[in-house]
Amino acid sequence: MNTAVDNGETLIERAAKDIVDSHKTIALTGAGVSVESGIPDFRSAEGLWSKYDPEEYAHINSFQSNPEKIWHMIKEMMELVLGVEPNPAHVALAELEQMGLLSSIITQNVDGLHQRGGSKEVIEFHGSNQWLVCLQCGYRQESASLSFEAIPPRCPQCSSILKPDVVFFGEPIPWEAQTRSFEEARTCDVVLVVGTSAVVYPAAGIPTTAKQSGAKIVEINMEPTPLTGFISDYLIQGSAGTILPRIVEEVKKQIS
Ligand code: NAD
Ligand code: ZN
Repeated sequence: MNTAVDNGETLIERAAKDIVDSHKTIALTGAGVSVESGIPDFRSAEGLWSKYDPEEYAHINSFQSNPEKIWHMIKEMMELVLGVEPNPAHVALAELEQMGLLSSIITQNVDGLHQRGGSKEVIEFHGSNQWLVCLQCGYRQESASLSFEAIPPRCPQCSSILKPDVVFFGEPIPWEAQTRSFEEARTCDVVLVVGTSAVVYPAAGIPTTAKQSGAKIVEINMEPTPLTGFISDYLIQGSAGTILPRIVEEVKKQIS
């Protein structure tokens, strides 16, 4: 945890109270929530993204102009995700939902770890790694069925190149995910913003929308973001895998 342990304790109690007192709490999560599972975020100095610049590799123009090159990164990401497990941050959010204290998680992650950690109401804002789609004819197949023998994989119906069903930079957000997310933002009174740098829009606009509707914004992050001090009511600085279980523990104390 960070320097302000005493302050951190107080903020954990405050977050727990905000959750317990709220009518509807939601969470917005980003890559930081999966870092402790072993999936690097975009800001990490090492790992996948030091080898593959996300600005280039995660852009739809790159995928369209050189799918074979981008598929090497996708293959590595998919293999990485297959070998990891949900961490205490995912499990803590699932526990809050089971207790009836978390309405939904809006995640920017494509790794499926919230669902594997036990969460049911997960809105995948940037799609999911678990499916492949053909942009030409709409064919879909599960990524797990992919052998990776031929890269890039092709559609069995029309031979076009398959793409993971994730939102690349330069692509629109799936309509249903966006509509549901902003509806959740407008109707909640607490948002837990966890492990996101809050710079990728429109996802980063969710806390602002919620704030404008009167919600409290509780930020849990390793470092301050553009929301800190402006949109967030407070920042609990530290790792999600440490802080979220402590909040859940405190919630249990407060409701017992
Ligand atoms: P980001 O990489 O821009 O930011 C991650 C944030 O999490 C940073 O602020 C960092 O300080 C913080 N962080 C790192 N470790 C943490 C921890 N243990 N606990 C709490 N906070 C921690 O990620 P983003 O904001 O989600 O935006 C980048 C885009 O990258 C998203 O669209 C996302 O889809 C994609 N992405 C997804 C994955 C994944 O699915 N796991 C991984 C990398 C990137
Ligand atoms: Zn096809």
